[in-house]
Amino acid sequence: MQNTFTVTLVEATLLTPKVRHLKFKRHDGLPLEFTPGQFVSFHFSAAEGKEIRRSYSLASIPGQSEHIELALGYVEGGLASKTLFTAQPGDQFAMSGPYGRLILRDENPQRYIMVATSTGVTPYRSMLPALAARLNQVKVVIMLGVQTRLDALYSTDFLAYANQYPNLDFRLCYSRETDKEHLLPFEHLGYVQEQFALLNPSPDNDIVYLCGNPNMIDAAYDILKEKGFSAQQVRREKYVS
Ligand SMILES: Cc1cc2nc3c(=O)[nH]c(=O)nc-3n(C[C@H](O)[C@H](O)[C@H](O)COP(=O)(O)OP(=O)(O)OC[C@H]3O[C@@H](n4cnc5c(N)ncnc54)[C@H](O)[C@@H]3O)c2cc1C
Repeated sequence: MQNTFTVTLVEATLLTPKVRHLKFKRHDGLPLEFTPGQFVSFHFSAAEGKEIRRSYSLASIPGQSEHIELALGYVEGGLASKTLFTAQPGDQFAMSGPYGRLILRDENPQRYIMVATSTGVTPYRSMLPALAARLNQVKVVIMLGVQTRLDALYSTDFLAYANQYPNLDFRLCYSRETDKEHLLPFEHLGYVQEQFALLNPSPDNDIVYLCGNPNMIDAAYDILKEKGFSAQQVRREKYVS
């Protein structure tokens, strides 16, 4: 096993019927040093001495939490889903990390457009204080796509920042709601990538982050390539096993 450490589950709550928010602490008492946007991996023992590894983005908001916080979306029949969805406080796991390059860089675009489906919004939650620190120079649009209102996770965190900072726009998109009458100002119907038609993204001004469902990422990337974006201007993290 590579640089793994033991973590203990401290608390588990349901964010939505299918997403569990998990808080862990390291057994050695050390903090997990990470850059918002990174992920950790669990190492599960499998048959014949094999190891199964599953990755989860860090949801912890620096300055607000000392725990390793994650959002786990339940996948029917999934090995890690079953284990982590039924885990109880006190249960211990092998973890490694942090990993990943879906992080903020030292740059000043006119606008960041950060797009996610479901738990793919987790890295942007962790980035909130760092994004807020840049809002005097950069506009930020965070767009979360979920199926229904019940599936919206962390929206109160994003709305709190959007209410405080006029340069931060938060949009919540429902792919399976149909009632146009009672939408709040930040709510939209349709797939999250359909919002690009309203944002007029431009490779001259914008850097785009895409995280979560591979189908959304491919569809969004196709739209952006058509508009002239290069691979470097579209940072992608697909949630696949
Ligand atoms: C860098 C990275 C970060 C990630 N961050 C998160 C995160 O923050 N939160 C989170 O919930 N997940 C995240 N994932 C996905 C996570 O690592 C697992 O893939 C997911 O939890 C499914 O694992 P499982 O063992 O439960 O299912 P598996 O045993 O791997 O799969 C069971 C079955 O479900 C299918 N399947 C797998 N994943 C999905 C899916 N998402 N939707 C529908 N069917 C699926 C498989 O093809 C298989 O048939 C991330 C993945 C990566 C690569």
